[in-house]
Amino acid sequence: MSSAVRQADRLRTVRYDIRGPLLRRAREIEAAGHEVVKLNIGNPAAWGMHAPDAVVQGLVEHIHDAEGYSDARGVLVAREAVADYYTGRGVEGLGPDHVMLGNGVSELIVMTLQALLDPGDEVLVPAPDYPLWTGAVRLSGGTAVHYRCDEDAGWQPDVADVAARVTPATKALVIINPNNPTGAVYSREVLLGLLEVARQHGLLVLADEIYDHILFDGAVHEHAAALAPDLVVLTLCGLSKNHRAAGFRSAWMAVSGPRERAADYLDGLELLANMRMCPNVPAQHAVAAALADRASIDPLLAPGGRLREQRDHALRRLRAIPGVSCVEPRGALYLFAKLDRDVIAVDDDEALVMDLLNAEHLLLTHGTGFNLPTPDHLRMVFLAPVDVLDDAADRLERFLAGRQR
Ligand code: PLP
Repeated sequence: MSSAVRQADRLRTVRYDIRGPLLRRAREIEAAGHEVVKLNIGNPAAWGMHAPDAVVQGLVEHIHDAEGYSDARGVLVAREAVADYYTGRGVEGLGPDHVMLGNGVSELIVMTLQALLDPGDEVLVPAPDYPLWTGAVRLSGGTAVHYRCDEDAGWQPDVADVAARVTPATKALVIINPNNPTGAVYSREVLLGLLEVARQHGLLVLADEIYDHILFDGAVHEHAAALAPDLVVLTLCGLSKNHRAAGFRSAWMAVSGPRERAADYLDGLELLANMRMCPNVPAQHAVAAALADRASIDPLLAPGGRLREQRDHALRRLRAIPGVSCVEPRGALYLFAKLDRDVIAVDDDEALVMDLLNAEHLLLTHGTGFNLPTPDHLRMVFLAPVDVLDDAADRLERFLAGRQR
């Protein structure tokens, strides 16, 4: 008799709810012939927001140079472009040897943690977080320790809470700025506070800045690496969001600060980079063009620009629903709305989102899927055009009207 093939035990605690049972159910509904409004994933091209021509051309023009493996860290021109970019933005001491390219920030997140963690090691991760961070810590055998971000303070991290959660087992501090799912753009004061915690406890800083160009209302993004030249900071970014080319799977990581202190760790990272041969080479050739481009994103964000209008419209519509409030996102692509549990009956936010999907064919993501401790938030992507957002808001409003206490 043959026994069942089972997944590894270490996957039992790994979750990635953005594409979990809800997406499977959405596919079933679609297979049954219904349309589902999917506002669950930050994939700009899916909503007609395309990469700039220069970025696409960078890939197309070099396609014949991209048939072989590249350097495991990535092609030199791309690594030089990344080093020059951050140098121009105040990060000290970077050259192409301090940059590693990856198949999306996702791959680099997993590599940074796989290279770092032994069982029992702890990593400070924001709550809510982009859940790959928590998932990848657990996949790597570590423990994700969630620090509080304060909704009443525009979702800025609570620095005192971060400091209180440090233990002798803490290895690293994850900073996601601008933040997914909250849209918070961290103030300099808060960033300096976080970096001081890392300094005092010798923590590696992992700065996920994938939305660093997507800013509204004059919000200013500061690179953690520029504020802390004395700390080892890994800055992660890529083409998926700023440059609307998520399908290229193209990203980078820059290692700044006193790298000699991290030499052993960086050897481990290089081992992992070598083991996957190299990142997808065609997409690496889009990196230099992407880093030279700001002109294509800024008009989307300015008053009257598509992303700005969509954010404003969706925010107005959500806030008008009885029992719903929402902090205005100052960056990224998401609204993270709160359900007032005195008004709306919700004990299990995943079940609520599943009921919403079944009843209204609208797919959102539940707050606990981002490791928020309370089951009273929903995330909506605002990449869709205004008419689609309006329709989604109608569906949500109708559904929640039936959930009033
Ligand atoms: N980091 C954050 C904060 C994200 O929101 C996402 C995608 O949504 C990623 C990383 C993954 O990006 P990539 O497409 O580069 O793998």
